[in-house]
Amino acid sequence: MEKNLKTIKCSDFGLNCDFAIKDENMEEVVKRIKEHGMSVHPESVKQMMAGKSEEEIDKIIKSKIKEEKCEC
Ligand SMILES: [Zn+2]
Repeated sequence: MEKNLKTIKCSDFGLNCDFAIKDENMEEVVKRIKEHGMSVHPESVKQMMAGKSEEEIDKIIKSKIKEEKCEC
């Protein structure tokens, strides 16, 4: 079956990190990259997200998500 995967990499945010997420669910990707950022790079995340609302942060994250077709 063909799936439409959403992918995001930590390096998309300019961080020197190999962490990547692939999931069919956009909200899940946003949630998990936030969790990763806050637990592994809290200082960088705070700097990047300073003064932004939760809504703006989600928008920034979603703008970096790429769609990928997968035959899995
Ligand atoms: Zn990372």
